[in-house]
Amino acid sequence: PPLLEVQNLHKSYNNVEVLGGVDFTVQRGQVKALLGPSGSGKSTILRMISLLEPCDSGTILLDGEQIGVIGGRVDVRPAPERILARQRTAIGMVFQKFNLFPHLDATRNVMSGLTTVLKVPKKEAREQALEMLDRVGLAARAHAYPSELSGGQQQRVAIARALVMKPKLMLFDEPTSALDPELVREVLDVMEKLASDGMTMVVVTHEMRFARSVASEVALFDSGQIVEQAPPDRFFDAP
Ligand code: ADP
Ligand code: ADP
Repeated sequence: PPLLEVQNLHKSYNNVEVLGGVDFTVQRGQVKALLGPSGSGKSTILRMISLLEPCDSGTILLDGEQIGVIGGRVDVRPAPERILARQRTAIGMVFQKFNLFPHLDATRNVMSGLTTVLKVPKKEAREQALEMLDRVGLAARAHAYPSELSGGQQQRVAIARALVMKPKLMLFDEPTSALDPELVREVLDVMEKLASDGMTMVVVTHEMRFARSVASEVALFDSGQIVEQAPPDRFFDAP
């Protein structure tokens, strides 16, 4: 099966529909770029897939297994918290604004999910965190606090924090939009390396060069629906 399969996802806020039946699949090892105007539902779809919020209806399959579900509906509310917590660890999420814990250094930020959710012993969690910080090029800043790091470094810590949980799927919500232009490249480089290592990714982005050169497929959102979907060579070179 595809690694991720999203079927007929619907979501409304206050009776205003923001997702009007979204379908897409992502094969293992592929990168899907989601493009489209602000307000078209891209962030919302990521929050549904990451089980941060319930959908109104539809189905999400991860590796062929329905997630966030009771009775065929994507409604996370009735699902026991423990099941959800376990399912969420299979999906890493990186936000526009880093969302690091300000009172924890880089290592402790990366360790946090390991020790709290997966109950990994501290010593082992620390080793894995340091390994992951090395992977994103931050071994030398392992003990820096978020306020001592540039935006690009903070975002790389956030990526390491997601990766250390060994997710099957990584979601990125405009990961470079809050960065100064000169820091965008260092984050895209880490993401490109992840993609070439075979990580399955869904990336909301305005970085067209990234979408063109790294994505396996591009999906264009408009008003809560996918209006066009194609590999980047066809998507960008269409007349
Ligand atoms: P995008 O990521 O494409 O910019 P979003 O998914 O953030 O779009 O938003 C889609 C629409 O849903 C927007 O009109 C937005 O204002 C609305 N929306 C998103 N989250 C909420 C919420 N929690 N409550 C009410 N409206 C929301
Ligand atoms: P993004 O930049 O990712 O599109 P936004 O800045 O639109 O996100 O939204 C940030 C947060 O605010 C999200 O958690 C979203 O659910 C919430 N939100 C967005 N639009 C609305 C809205 N119209 N009413 C209430 N909450 C909203």
